[in-house]
Amino acid sequence: MNLNDRYRCLILLILFGLQLLVTPIFAAEKILEISQTKQTPISLTEYLAVFEDPSLTLTQTDVQKADIAARFKTDFPAAEAISFDYSRSAYWLRLTLHNTSDHPLERMLEIGYPLLSNVQFYQPMASGAYQSITTGLALPFATRPYPNRYFVFPITVLAHTEQAYYLRIQATDAIIVPARLWETQAFHRYERNDYLAQAWYFGMVTAMILFNLLLFIALRDVIYFLYIGFVSCMALAIASQNGLSKEFLWPNAMLWSDISQFICDSLIFVTWLLFMRRMLNTQTVIPKLDRFLKVMVGINLFTLVGFAVSLQTFAESVVLLYLTSIIFVLGIGLFCTFKRQRSAYFFVIASTVLCFAAVITALNNLGFLPTNFLTVNALQFGSTLEMLLLAFALADRFNEIRRQKEIAQNQVLAAQQHLVENLQSSERILETRVAERTAELHTLNRKLEALSMTDGLTGIANRRHFDDVLAREWDRALRLNQPLALAILDVDWFKKYNDHYGHQEGDDCLRSVAAILATNVCRTGDLVARYGGEEFVFIAPATDGDNALTMAKKVCETLQALTLPHEMSEFGCVTFSIGVAAIIPSKENTLDSLVKAADDALYRAKAQGRNRAVLAT
Ligand code: GH3
Ligand code: MG
Ligand code: MG
Repeated sequence: MNLNDRYRCLILLILFGLQLLVTPIFAAEKILEISQTKQTPISLTEYLAVFEDPSLTLTQTDVQKADIAARFKTDFPAAEAISFDYSRSAYWLRLTLHNTSDHPLERMLEIGYPLLSNVQFYQPMASGAYQSITTGLALPFATRPYPNRYFVFPITVLAHTEQAYYLRIQATDAIIVPARLWETQAFHRYERNDYLAQAWYFGMVTAMILFNLLLFIALRDVIYFLYIGFVSCMALAIASQNGLSKEFLWPNAMLWSDISQFICDSLIFVTWLLFMRRMLNTQTVIPKLDRFLKVMVGINLFTLVGFAVSLQTFAESVVLLYLTSIIFVLGIGLFCTFKRQRSAYFFVIASTVLCFAAVITALNNLGFLPTNFLTVNALQFGSTLEMLLLAFALADRFNEIRRQKEIAQNQVLAAQQHLVENLQSSERILETRVAERTAELHTLNRKLEALSMTDGLTGIANRRHFDDVLAREWDRALRLNQPLALAILDVDWFKKYNDHYGHQEGDDCLRSVAAILATNVCRTGDLVARYGGEEFVFIAPATDGDNALTMAKKVCETLQALTLPHEMSEFGCVTFSIGVAAIIPSKENTLDSLVKAADDALYRAKAQGRNRAVLAT
C-alpha cells in the first residue's frame, strides 16, 4: 500500500462520515438493472451494500439472515471506489443485479484493486444455492476464476431474475473496492489495451535499466548503479501495486505477495535518497544535511526488518516516514536548486513530476478525477517521464564533469606551458650571461696574454715573447730553408746617461728609443722586443745578413738623426750599437749560435767605436 492509497482512504473516510450525517443509514439499496443498461463499464459503488464483520466469524449464510442483511450500509457516493482505512475486519459486500430480459446475460465483475489479501466471491446458482470462489493476494494466482492482474469474476445473470452476489474481503492494508461491471467483449478490449500499456512501460524500464547497466560498466560511476536500483524498485513497486508481479513474478507466493509492495516502497525511498546524495553531491555541498540523509536511508532500511516482524503495525505507521522522506527529498532538491546547482534543476523537476503523478493516481482512486487511460496509468507516465529526465540529468552531469575535467586539464597545461616558458627564458638569460662572461673572460685573457708578452716600461714585446717568436721563426725558417736574421741593439754609454740625467730621464729615453725602433722595423713578420736593461732586439724572418745589416744601419742613422741629447756621449746624442747575425737554420747549427753570433757582433760594434751596426762573420 502506498502513500496515495492511504491519503485516499483518509479523505474517503471523512467524506463517508460527512455523508452519514446527511443521509439516512438505512437508505434503500439500489438494484442494478443490467439488461436495460447499455453503458459499459458500470461503476458499482452506488449499488453496493456493505457490512463490517470485526469478529471474522460470519459465514455467507449468516449475512443473508434478515437481521444482518438489514444492517448492510448502502448509498455510497457514486465515486469510483469504496474505501476503508486499515482494518482487521472482514467486509461483506452485496450487489443485487436484475435481468429483465428473456435470456441469460454474461458479465465480468472487476474489482480493480489487486492488493486485497483475501477475496471470497459468492455467486448464486439456478438452484438458489451459492457457489463460492476463494482467491486473493495471499493465495496462489491459480485460484482466480479469470486470469487478470485484478480480481475478475465472470458471472451469468439468469433471465427474469434478481440475484444478490456477495463478496467477502480482507486485507493487510487499507481496503479499496473499485468495482465495475463489464460487458464481456468490452472487457476483453479494455484488458488488451491495459496489458499493452503495462508492457510499454515495463519494456521502457527494461531498456533504461540495460542501457544504464552498460553505462555503469563502461564509466564505473556508482550513480548509474543507484539509478538502476531506483528505477528497478520503482518498476517493482508499480508491478506490485498494480498486481502484475503477483501474476507474473511470484504467482504462488503467499506472505511475500502481501509484504513485497511495502519492501519495494521502502527500497524506492532508500535508492531515491542515495541517488540524490550522489547526484547533488550533498556530502560536500551540504555536509550537515547529508548526515540527516544518511539517517533517513537507515530508517527506511530499518522498515524492511519491521515489515518482516509485524507487517500490519509497520504498514500503518510507515506512511509518515514516506511523507517525511518526500518532503526531505524535495526540500533538499529545492535548496540545491536555490544554490544554483545544475543537476538539482533536473532532479527537482523529475521528482516533482513523479509526485504529481502520484497525486493524480490518488485523486483518481478517490474518485475526484475521471477514470481514463491517462489517470489510471498516471504513475507509469510519471515514472517514465522521471526516468527519462533523470537519464538526461545523468548525461548532463557526465558532460559537466567532462567540461570541468577539460578546464582543469587546460589549466594544468597552461601552468606547464608557463613553467616551460619561464624555464626557457631563464635558460636564455643564463646563456646570455654565460656568453657575456665568456667574452669578458676572453678579453681579459687576451689582455693578460698581451700583458704577459709586453714590456711594462716601453710597451713593446718583452723578452719572453721574443724567446717564443724566435723559437717559432727558427722552426719555420728551418722548415722553409729560409734565412733568419737577428739584431741585438745596445744604447751606448747609458750608465752615464742615467748618472747624468737621472734614472727617470733614463726611463723616458728608453721609451723613445723603443718607439723609434718599432716604427723603423715594421715589416710583416718582424718583431721588435726589449731584451733587458737598455738592450733591444729585432727578428727579421726571411732576411739575409746584408739586408738585416741595412735595416740595422738605418735604425742607427734614424736614431742619430733624432739627436736625443746625451751630453756624456762622444756623439752628443743617444746612439745604438747593433750586432747583426743571419743564418739559414739547419741540423748542424742551433738557435743559441745565432744569438751568440749577434752578441759577438754587438761586442765588436762596441769595440769598433759604437754608434754602428756590425754583421757577424
Ligand atoms: P756601453 O756603451 O758599453 O754599453 O756602456 P753602458 O753604460 O751602456 O754599459 P752598461 O751596460 O754597463 O750599462 C747599462 C746601464 O743601463 C746600467 C743601468 O744603469 C742602465 N739601465 C739598465 N736598465 C735600465 C732601466 O730600466 N732604466 C734606466 N734608467 N736605466 C737602466
Ligand atoms: Mg748594455
Ligand atoms: Mg750600453
